[in-house]
Amino acid sequence: MSFSSDAKRELCRAPLSRRCCAQAECYGILLYANRFDRGEARIVTESAAFAARLPALFKKAFHITFDRLPEAGQGKRIFSLTAPDKLSALSAAFGYDPGSTVAHHINFAVLEEEHCRSAFFRGAFLAGGSVTDPAKGYHLELATSHYSVNRELLTLLREAGFAPKSAARGANHMAYFKQSEAITDFLTAIGAPLAAMELMNAKAEKDLRGGVNRRVNCDAANLDKAVDAAQAQLEDIRRLAGRMDLAELPPKLAEAARLRMDNPEMTLTELAALCEPPITKSSLSHRLKKLGELAGEM
Ligand SMILES: [Zn+2]
Repeated sequence: MSFSSDAKRELCRAPLSRRCCAQAECYGILLYANRFDRGEARIVTESAAFAARLPALFKKAFHITFDRLPEAGQGKRIFSLTAPDKLSALSAAFGYDPGSTVAHHINFAVLEEEHCRSAFFRGAFLAGGSVTDPAKGYHLELATSHYSVNRELLTLLREAGFAPKSAARGANHMAYFKQSEAITDFLTAIGAPLAAMELMNAKAEKDLRGGVNRRVNCDAANLDKAVDAAQAQLEDIRRLAGRMDLAELPPKLAEAARLRMDNPEMTLTELAALCEPPITKSSLSHRLKKLGELAGEM
């Protein structure tokens, strides 16, 4: 099961309580369905949960039954309304002039209440939406073939506090989200808090893993740097030893040279602690640098 179909299954558990909300959900479904015009309202879905919800939803909202129901065993389930009286009942409920052929618009007047808007978003998502598995990325989209509907949905979403982006893909117009927080908020608002929680957890896990990986890489890089530095110090000291007796060096430099030769693997901090008396890492670093300069002069 995909993350998207799990989210839709959760949404379809939302009870059919208010009639106004049932109508708003139908409205969202129809504007994001495969076809909604004078001749037919056609909803095609692969979601078994959505298919189970549709007849009850339309019955609750408009007391109407579908003229065509899916046949058993179909992958794509097709619901269709073709009876003129049913189609005009829908048009009337959404404030359309029955029989008009003008482009679809969202009638804001029937979505004044917040509960109805959430139901409308839910319907739009069930019919025309999808959300990517958070393990693969963050993307939630709502796609409709109606240009104005998409534009007006963007307005509705913004009014509800969201910041959707918009794009066209083929004949479809999309509103979409790319931010995990926005997707989480949207899923919660339309009635899928569990999917929202799953997304949040997936993100937290990913962030945590990213943080650990960054630290491991960083430690490894520092270690490489320390090893390279020690190698350079050893080369300098060997070069000096080839030209002179290291015991002739000033005592502090001689001590640093001897300690580095004896402990090629130690970090500066460890070496500094071995000095008599112990010195700071930066003092030791200074002495080793001095040795490097002397080796360069020779
Ligand atoms: Zn309502």
